[in-house]
Amino acid sequence: MAQDKYYITTPIYYPSGQLHIGHSYTTVAADAMARYKRLRGADVFFLTGMDEHGQKIQRTAEKAGMTPQAFVDAMAVDIKALWELLDVRYDGFIRTTDAHHVAAVQAIVQRLKDQDDIYKGSYEGLYCTPCEAFWTPSQAPEGRCPDCGGPLEPTEESCYFFRLSRYQDRLMDLFMREDPFVRPVSRAHEMINNFLKPGLDDVAVTRTSFNWGVHVPFDPDHVVYVWIDALSNYITALGYPDQLTLFDRYWPADVHLIGKEIMRFHSLIWPALLMALDLPIPKRIFGHGWLLLKEGKMSKSKGNVVDPVILVDKYGVDAIRYFLLREVPFGADGVFSNQALIERINSDLANDLGNLLSRTAAMMVKTFPQGLPEERIGDPVDEELDEEADRTLDEVEGHMEQLEFSLSLEAIWAQIGRCNKYIDVTMPWILAREEADHPRLAAVLYTLADNLRRLAVMISPFMIRTPALIRDQLGIPDKDPVSGTDYTAWESARQRGLYRANDQVRKGQALFPRIDVEKELEALETLLP
Ligand SMILES: [Zn+2]
Repeated sequence: MAQDKYYITTPIYYPSGQLHIGHSYTTVAADAMARYKRLRGADVFFLTGMDEHGQKIQRTAEKAGMTPQAFVDAMAVDIKALWELLDVRYDGFIRTTDAHHVAAVQAIVQRLKDQDDIYKGSYEGLYCTPCEAFWTPSQAPEGRCPDCGGPLEPTEESCYFFRLSRYQDRLMDLFMREDPFVRPVSRAHEMINNFLKPGLDDVAVTRTSFNWGVHVPFDPDHVVYVWIDALSNYITALGYPDQLTLFDRYWPADVHLIGKEIMRFHSLIWPALLMALDLPIPKRIFGHGWLLLKEGKMSKSKGNVVDPVILVDKYGVDAIRYFLLREVPFGADGVFSNQALIERINSDLANDLGNLLSRTAAMMVKTFPQGLPEERIGDPVDEELDEEADRTLDEVEGHMEQLEFSLSLEAIWAQIGRCNKYIDVTMPWILAREEADHPRLAAVLYTLADNLRRLAVMISPFMIRTPALIRDQLGIPDKDPVSGTDYTAWESARQRGLYRANDQVRKGQALFPRIDVEKELEALETLLP
């Protein structure tokens, strides 16, 4: 069977300010999915990048006394550094100022014009600068942007329109197909009821009021704005329209991960553009919720340290990745607070996982410094725990296919809880007292070590550094030089009994040191701008 390919994308981020924990959330989610698919043997392409054009960038750069290009170049350095800090491993990083992208957008616009999918008209409407979106008075009755709530400016200008209305029926068919195009399904219903049923209007796709953008080849006073410029990144990053090696290998996308606020553009305008270009439609658009601060949507002024750089520095990258993917049920909104973060670190990471490892390693070192003996006496409770590990793996695989990261982690942590309970039930510290009980103790510790080995693999799409630390304390190599067993491979988590007794077990540092909640919240307060 040919190797499955898997193409996953994040939105391209608009770098008019520093990225915050919300952007990190989407990107870490995509990274976890990409890593999972790589572990399952898929040929993965994971794309992220930056949307660098538009009026707001132009204005922000001017205020900073920079050219827009110098401004976005500096932002690109920061954003790539952030992804590196968060252990995000992408395969492509598209910038809409890339020469190939600019030429590709011009070719797309030219083709749309040639086949009469684009026509010249003029637009009167209410314009939201941050969103680069026009709204009609009926869509924005209070004069505020329906997406971001910001002020709208009445604007009239000559522009080109894309005939979105032409694709109304085909879009409706797409939304009605059996395997939902848009997830979660509630978001699909919003699109059908709010936009498709009332009937789609053509959309303005060029601007003349600023010039920081891709110039329309047949009318250079116009620049292409965000719909065609930004959305087409998903194909131009693969070389479309003239360098098709990657494009042929990976298109259509398996999933576009997006925030719900850009669902309309991704689920209506984007497929219509692809239909106009005679290209296949992405398999799925997944709109996740927002990571909210307690007081509402995230913003700098709300009194929580949300700078991912500070948080990673204080708690480590794996704790932050874990929190992001565990706290928010994917698709719904979640709440970010420093307190919730610290409590998760203490309960799930320091207590549940950290203690399981440190207790297991400590007991192994103390009673069996030469390694677990061959003579072990098993019990049905050992078998039960192993069977639960089998089921956990099945659950994780099922949830990951639906991008249910928090449910995957819940399933893994349920198994960690069962391992801790198994310690309470088997009471190894009592077995250690009498030599006659040591064969039973050896079986208990073997069961725990083998379960930790399997758990280390299951957490590896989510937490990048912790699996190696677990293996290290248990004396498990990444790859066994004799048997060739790859202990990092996903399939090794499916097998029981791969753990090999050895004399390299050691009680290392705590995986996640416990944090004093009160003190830490105070310390974070002092970091607020
Ligand atoms: Zn807006």
